[in-house]
Amino acid sequence: MATTRRPLIAGNWKMNLDHLQSIAFVQKLAWALKDKKFNEQEVEVAVFPPFTDLRSVQTLINADDLPLQLGAQDVSMHDEGAHTGDVSGVFLKALDCQYVIVGHSERRADHHEDDEVCTSKVQAALRNNLVPILCVGETAEDLEQYGASKVPVDQLTAVLSSVKKGAEMVIAYEPVWAIGSGQAATPDQAEEVCATLRDTIRSLHGDEAAQSTRILYGGSVKSGNIAGFLKRENIDGALVGGASLDVDEFVAIARFPHHVSVD
Ligand code: PEP
Repeated sequence: MATTRRPLIAGNWKMNLDHLQSIAFVQKLAWALKDKKFNEQEVEVAVFPPFTDLRSVQTLINADDLPLQLGAQDVSMHDEGAHTGDVSGVFLKALDCQYVIVGHSERRADHHEDDEVCTSKVQAALRNNLVPILCVGETAEDLEQYGASKVPVDQLTAVLSSVKKGAEMVIAYEPVWAIGSGQAATPDQAEEVCATLRDTIRSLHGDEAAQSTRILYGGSVKSGNIAGFLKRENIDGALVGGASLDVDEFVAIARFPHHVSVD
């Protein structure tokens, strides 16, 4: 059976660029994508600015019909009420966000977000018609103790077991030791874990979900190493941190000729 998964290149800005800087950045990005004849039918590109930038970026995307999707870096598990500092999925949807990142390792570490919290946030995203990008990945200590696959598979299993089948999700395999370190996993290492994650989706949510779910690799992705990842059968794009803040680098990553079908 031939399955088409449109690659997704997702730029996680983390806590960088204020709302004025975000406007200048997106204008440059839009110009560079046009200049390089970027084709959004082949590759989907999404940006994940800080919450305070979302309205500015949304306005630009809508006004100029830019080939960019918008996402948020986090979502509250609650939809409304007495939850100071939280941001509701209802509000994100109203800003035309399509995606939300859930369970990034920086939130798991800085805010003690465990699998239960991630599950509630994925459920909040889905109930608001946002596509969650669930991040899973092992630390350097986990890698030494258990090997690469165990922790990401356990994290994925915990969430998928409590999520209804058929819901669109994206999974990002992000080895924690590779994030921001300049030391990416090898394409072989990443492919092995992503294949195991796809098997996990198959056993919990069935073959159709396994075939259609996009699995991204994240961790020190750059224009110089993206090719190796995207050639692999089970890697359907990248979650890009540092390099997403450099317009030329990010466009070079998005412009790489990707595989689009897997037999
Ligand atoms: C990330 O923030 O998810 C990430 C992968 O960062 P970097 O690309 O900088 O390693």
